[in-house]
Amino acid sequence: MGNQSTMGGSHSQPALPTDLNAVRAKYVEERNKRVRAEGVAQFVAVEGALDHLMDDPFVPERVSRNPQTAEVDVVVVGAGHCGLLAAVRLKQAGIDNIRIIDGAADFGGTWYWNRYPGIRCDVDAYIYMPLLEEVGYVPTEKYASGTEIFRNAQRIGATFGLYDKALFQTHVDLARWDEEIQRWTVSTNRGDKITARFVIFGLGPLNRPKLPGIPGLTSFKGHMFHTSRWDYNYTGGSSEKPESEMVKLCDKRVAIVGTGCTGIQCAPRVAEFAKHLYVFQRTPSAVAERANRPTNPEWESSLAAGWQKRRSDNFDRVMQGLPEDEDLVNDGWTEMRELMAAAWAGTVGETKEAQAGAQRAEAIDLEMMNRIRTRVDLIVEDHATAERLKPWYNRLCKRPTFSDHYLQMFNRPNVDLVDTNGHGVECIEERGLIVDGKLYEVDCIIFASGFEVGTDYSRRGDIKIIGRNGITLSEKWSGGMKTLYGYLSSGYPNCFHMGAFLQNAAFGNFTAVFDRQASRIAEIIVRLNEAGAKTIEASAAGEDAWVAAVRESYHASEPFLAQCTPGYYNGEGKTTDGILYEQYNGGVTRFEEIVQKWIDDGLSGAVVR
Ligand code: NDP
Repeated sequence: MGNQSTMGGSHSQPALPTDLNAVRAKYVEERNKRVRAEGVAQFVAVEGALDHLMDDPFVPERVSRNPQTAEVDVVVVGAGHCGLLAAVRLKQAGIDNIRIIDGAADFGGTWYWNRYPGIRCDVDAYIYMPLLEEVGYVPTEKYASGTEIFRNAQRIGATFGLYDKALFQTHVDLARWDEEIQRWTVSTNRGDKITARFVIFGLGPLNRPKLPGIPGLTSFKGHMFHTSRWDYNYTGGSSEKPESEMVKLCDKRVAIVGTGCTGIQCAPRVAEFAKHLYVFQRTPSAVAERANRPTNPEWESSLAAGWQKRRSDNFDRVMQGLPEDEDLVNDGWTEMRELMAAAWAGTVGETKEAQAGAQRAEAIDLEMMNRIRTRVDLIVEDHATAERLKPWYNRLCKRPTFSDHYLQMFNRPNVDLVDTNGHGVECIEERGLIVDGKLYEVDCIIFASGFEVGTDYSRRGDIKIIGRNGITLSEKWSGGMKTLYGYLSSGYPNCFHMGAFLQNAAFGNFTAVFDRQASRIAEIIVRLNEAGAKTIEASAAGEDAWVAAVRESYHASEPFLAQCTPGYYNGEGKTTDGILYEQYNGGVTRFEEIVQKWIDDGLSGAVVR
């Protein structure tokens, strides 16, 4: 990171509040600045005049091929971690006649598209990267780069012989259930027509880029792109080596809009090369220490069979505050274990224990957030900049972030923080961006503005899913999702859903969640085959009961989310639009017990024919 100082804050540190009432008042004040009447509608989809921003910059050529007609057992839609794991677990269960379809040109999903410089997964790589023991690989660092994770996705595809089953650069337009033949027909933009007994959708929770609906967005005459389609042609460097030099930026004034997990990872790399970087901030991230490190060879050689699952299960339990003798991952996430446990205890009703839990959570939270705010003072030299970089909300209101480069970056002479005081960029015009009436002229705008959340499920996948009665899934779910444990929906036989925020429980390490889903789907299909059954779907009653359980678990978390600063967790302030609304908030372990019991009890709540 060049010669940036790491602990450069030399100004005297202002005292941070320890009085809970004062902190609560400050949080409300900061929240109120940010809440917008439009809620999630403040963002615009990347379509129409902006459609080109969705183009694949990594493999611009579309491989030509003839349309396929095939009859298979399973079509898996999506070749990210969900799709890959589904394919692997199906294959291991003896179900080999499958197709995996994805718009990208390779496996990887998130890690195919997101190749921005500085990209890393902020979850321990030894648990995040799936199937490490199966493919015989150990990550080179505790927090792996995006390239290393993408390579692992390719490794999984190659090891399990999945490339022959994949249709890449192919978009599924329509999946329609045909009651007469008891099959799905899957149609693509390449003219393919594939019939399948089962379909599995692994569309990913955050797959469709969004842009802030800033007035004048399309009037900008310079260059612009979204972080999930990084334009290395423009910046220099390469997607193969995102750590390489972006020399073409040396005479460029660059704006980055957005300071979430993505913004804080890519901005320091841009700062190293750009003539000038303006970081446009609406809400500061809470940035804790990262402390990445290379894999210790001795530790690596000590790993005994089954190590990855043990480590992953340990993480899940530690993160839920469940008793464990040791904390194997031991990092900034598990450091939050006490906070999680207390917050958890605080959501289980009106009891004295719940009140005590909530109070304890608030006290731990204040201590943690004060540490994070103090860290800003210790690192950032300019006092005014440091003040603007301090986050004023609870630790769990937004996705926690970690970096040992982001705050340090503001000590560089070529970097300016443009704080919008919670209001966002005012407007964009031909030459640049306007905040508080002042024009910041730039050559390029990079949007680190995240992904669609809370929009219609089929829209995010851009797929029409038509069930038994000719009703699209979008129509059925127009008043909210309706599933049985997130897997099945009534009226959509043999159609499984995978991923997060689908009325299932996903928390902490998502790939472990996806792997459990994949294994269970494979197990269910095998059971159906053994029983000679043709179809499975949710019963209307089973689905209603599960939706009620999801809502009940959500209501317990609602008061906390409602007081949070706006973001995608809480639907930009309207909690029922938030990602956590469609989450079973009773805990991953509890959820898995429920699903296991469901399977063991013969899939009650589902209709098997
Ligand atoms: P986010 O949605 O988290 O962040 C979007 C950013 O854009 C926010 O800082 C937001 O500000 C800002 N923004 C929105 N509108 C405006 C506006 N009008 N003016 C100025 N700023 C604006 O997207 P990310 O891509 O950062 O992250 C999305 C998710 O992807 C993460 O939460 C995480 O789940 C995942 N991710 C995971 C990583 C990992 O290491 N595992 C790394 C990167 C991403 P505001 O906060 O005020 O809304």
